Amino acid sequence: MVFRKKRDPRFRDIVLTAYFEQCAICRYDIKMNGAAVALEAAHIQMQSAGGPDEVNNGLALCVIHHKLFDLGAITVDQNMNVHVSERFVGDWGRKLHDEFHGKPIASPRRETMAPLPQYIHWHNEQIFKGVVA
Ligand SMILES: [Zn+2]
Repeated sequence: MVFRKKRDPRFRDIVLTAYFEQCAICRYDIKMNGAAVALEAAHIQMQSAGGPDEVNNGLALCVIHHKLFDLGAITVDQNMNVHVSERFVGDWGRKLHDEFHGKPIASPRRETMAPLPQYIHWHNEQIFKGVVA
């Protein structure tokens, strides 16, 4: 018998609501018919590594920043500031760095919804392609 961790279908809604339906990094907020589009609930500690479907392990990110976050091009430090890896190059890599490196992510509606240090630590160590000083 195979046991699978069930995804919580409310995770996306809870995380998107916590961040006012905006990307926590770039504040992207496009909606269509009242619903956020191309905006996702990212797991900070990946589900495959045991990260829970909880708001403290989530960030609302646009599809681009979600992808870059999962690839380790972007992370967030314990002070909720963005770090951009220097290993992602090209004009857009530079733009990403210039626009967001060292800048704070958006705060959630309530302090209790903020990412927990343990999940951030996991992402910094396991996913980010660089060093978070
Ligand atoms: Zn974004």
